This record gives sequence, C-alpha cells and structure tokens, in this order.
Amino acid sequence: MRAHHHCEPEGLPGWPAAQDAHAPQAASGKRAARVDEARHHGHRQGTYPPLPPLLDDAVAQLVHGSPALLTELVEQYGSPLNLVWPHLLRNNTRKLTEVLRSHGVNHAIFYGAKVNKSQAFLHAAVQEGIGVDVSSLYEAADALAAGAQPARLCATGPAKTAAFLQMLVAQGSLISIDSREELHDLEQCLHTGTSDHPARVLLRYRPDACASSRFGMGAEELRDCLGRLAGRQAPITVEGFHFHLGGYAVAPRVQAVRELLPWVREARRHGLALSMLDIGGGLPIRYVDSTAYEMFLAAQDGGHYRHGQVPASFYPYGGPADASTWLAQLLVSPCADGLNVAESLRTAGLTLAIEPGRSLVDQAAISVFRVTRTKPLAPGRCVVFVEGSSFSACETWFGSEFLVDPLLVPADTGQPLGAMPQPCQAYIAGHSCLDDDVLTHRWIEFARTPQPGDLLVYANTAGYQMDLLENEFHRHPMPRRIAVTRTAAGGMDFSPDDNRPE
Ligand SMILES: *Cc1c(COP(=O)(O)O)cnc(C)c1O
Repeated sequence: MRAHHHCEPEGLPGWPAAQDAHAPQAASGKRAARVDEARHHGHRQGTYPPLPPLLDDAVAQLVHGSPALLTELVEQYGSPLNLVWPHLLRNNTRKLTEVLRSHGVNHAIFYGAKVNKSQAFLHAAVQEGIGVDVSSLYEAADALAAGAQPARLCATGPAKTAAFLQMLVAQGSLISIDSREELHDLEQCLHTGTSDHPARVLLRYRPDACASSRFGMGAEELRDCLGRLAGRQAPITVEGFHFHLGGYAVAPRVQAVRELLPWVREARRHGLALSMLDIGGGLPIRYVDSTAYEMFLAAQDGGHYRHGQVPASFYPYGGPADASTWLAQLLVSPCADGLNVAESLRTAGLTLAIEPGRSLVDQAAISVFRVTRTKPLAPGRCVVFVEGSSFSACETWFGSEFLVDPLLVPADTGQPLGAMPQPCQAYIAGHSCLDDDVLTHRWIEFARTPQPGDLLVYANTAGYQMDLLENEFHRHPMPRRIAVTRTAAGGMDFSPDDNRPE
C-alpha cells in the first residue's frame, strides 16, 4: 500500500516523494534503527521530543476548556467519536480567497470533497460560495444535496462511469477529461443522451514531472483531443486545462503552469475559448510547530517506535509554509516571459482554479478515543488499548505515522490527588484482533499512565485520517460524527452530522 502513496498524483493525499527534504532524516533514522532494534521492546528510554498538536481556539475551548463535556459526549455517542467544526472550513476558505484577491487573479475554488465524508463540511463550502471537486456519483449527489450549484461541481478522477458522465452532463457540471478514451466515452454519452446544453470540460494534463503517472494526458494525447474538439460538431465546450500533482512542493506546480501556457495558446489558435487553469490540490497544512517538528526529526530513531523502525516517509507535519503562505509563494514565483504566475495568468486572461481538500479542513475535526485499559510491557512501558481502531486514525495503514501526539484527557479531572499513576511511555493500539491495529507506533511520553475511561484526543484528523478507512470490522458500529457549532452566546452546540438519530 505504501507504493500507492509515493509520488503518484491523485492517489491518496500524496506523501512527499522519496527525494523530499525529509528523506535524509528517515534514512539516518533507519541506520539508527538497527542499533536500537535489540532494545525496542526494552525498558523506558530517555524522553522523546514531544509533538503537541496545534489547536484552533474553537477546538481548545472544548478539549482544554471543557474536558468533562468531552467525556459526556463520548458517553452519549460512543468511542471513537469524531467532532467536526464546519466554521473552520469557512475560515480556511476565506484565508485562501484573500490571498487570491490580493494578487489580483480571477479564481475559482473547488473543495476536494473526498478528504472527509462530513455533510456539514459540504454545507459550509456551499455557504462560503465555493464549488466542489467530486469524484463519484455519490460525492456529487451529496454536494447537490448540500445546495451546491450544479455548474460549480468539478468532476475529477480517472475512471468516471457512463452513469457519472451522464449525470454531470445533465447537471451542466465541469468534467475533467483524463484521457482520449474518456473523451470518447463522453462523446458516446452525448450521442445517446438528451442533453440540450454542451458538456463543459477541462483537459487533464500530465506534467513532465510525472511522465509515468497514469493520470492525465501527455503531448500527443492532448494534441489529439484538441484537434478532435476544435473541428467537431458534438456539443462540448473546452473551458481549460487541469492537473493535480502528488507531494506539496510549489516548484513542480509552477513548472506545470509554465508547460501549459503554450497549450492554452495552441488551443485558442484552434478556436477554443479557454478560460481556466486548474492546478488541483496539495496545499500543505501544519499540524505541529515547525521548530518542534525539526527537533523531532533530527532526534528520532528506531528506538522511538515500538517495532524499532522509523517509517520511510511522512507527511510534512510541521512544514515551513501553511496553505496561505504556500499559495502566495506560488503566485509570485517566476513563471514565463519575465512574469510571475499571477501576472502570467492575468495576461493570458485565465482564471486560476484550485481544488484544496486537506487545507480546507485544517483544524476542523478531532477524533476522540476512550481508553479501555493499559497493559504494562516492561518497567516504564505499556500499551494503551482504546475503544476504537486504527481505521479511525489511519496513517499507520500506509506504512507511515501520524506525527502528532494524542492529548490525554483524564476522566478523573477534578478528583483529589492521591494515587497519582506513574509516568510511562506507551504506544496506542486499537481493540481489534489485527496485530497491525495500532494508531501510534511511537512511544508517547505520558506524565500519568492513561487509565480506563480517560480520553485520547487525536487532533486535526479531518484530512484523510478519521474516516478514510473506517468500517464495521468486528461488527462494531461506525463511529459517530457530530458537528460543533458556536452559539450566539459563545457556547457550543452539538448536532449529528451522520444521518443517524440522536
Ligand atoms: C485528492 C485531490 C485533490 C485534493 O488534494 P489535497 O491534497 O487534499 O488538497 C484535488 N484534486 C484532485 C484531482 C485530487 O485527486
């Protein structure tokens, strides 16, 4: 599954490629790992550098401000419990819009809906007036149910079915065409369909940086499509070009824009009136403080992990730029003819489209697990079993690790001091019989050994963590998803966001 993660555009959220800046860290970690393997199940080691999560104030208000309420919510809705804050998606959208406005570029934002199954997030995106990037009939239907304007849906993904294409044409939604074959299928669909308006398409380009990717089209295929679309009778309007890259670097995206500008001119020479350049998603977010992250990467070795191995790659959890900074960097990057990206787009009369998934749900959810019991493994070391599984905090299933420490919320908050449990180093395991059901392989430092009934809070899980792999393994019911909204009085209101009754 790990190969799936590397480098390929689309796929899952896309981890840094092997040549990423973090790779040397991982490599040196591996060398150290061999030394450490012998003792990895051994006794408590020296303390490890912490990775406390960055928390939005709205989230901190609950987790730190009202821990007893959090405990009550888990009692009511069960463990694990996913809590989402839809207003944070709106805040994140505004920050990106502000950057785009301040650089004077015409823009369109499509929320990458696959990042999370929350309907409340879709509502928030619609309320904020942005479009939605959908990759299935079901995502499209949910976006429409949330009130999205059909014309503001953009359908991506390489293997749209005939039924999906038909629906998109009927709705007048934008369709990113991934291949000549998909264009052919769309033509077929127009022949058989009864639509009275043209299909609106983007052509998905395969940037030179990922020539072996299965997504998008290279020069020959693109030329072919343009030729077919220019001379044709069938009602298809080409609105622009699209790409989406794995990884989180600005430079390859600038380069892809540079590669596409001549294609825009070429298409216009064919008489096609293009107006959009869609650069996909991949805007990075920060889960932990950058300095803490650098310190952690520099210090970590196999001894930090219960199995003695540092994973080969990580998402850049404490990267140098947040999404807004990243977008600003992209817009001012030198592009072509002495112009930066923003100027090039303006000069070419192009609307810049982006499809942020993860960055729009930054901070907007937490996943709360109740501790079932703690089992000692060695002096100072234990495993914490939680009620729930790693399918609800799923990074480890991709051969990596969520480099954010879970927060311990003791159940006995407010009880008199007395038998204060000892500190310990613990890894966190789920309740299933799968040996791989581990939420956190790292030895987490707990000042107080977690006790049955305590809560472990994984912060910032909205982006591909909380519900990507969730299922009913062992016939456990699906975790609940509850939306937190702010009341006029500054309090919190909780309502189900999963179509299940209270
Ligand atoms: C997954 C995906 C996105 C969203 O990516 P993020 O990294 O979550 O911003 C956008 N566009 C396409 C085509 C995708 O496949």
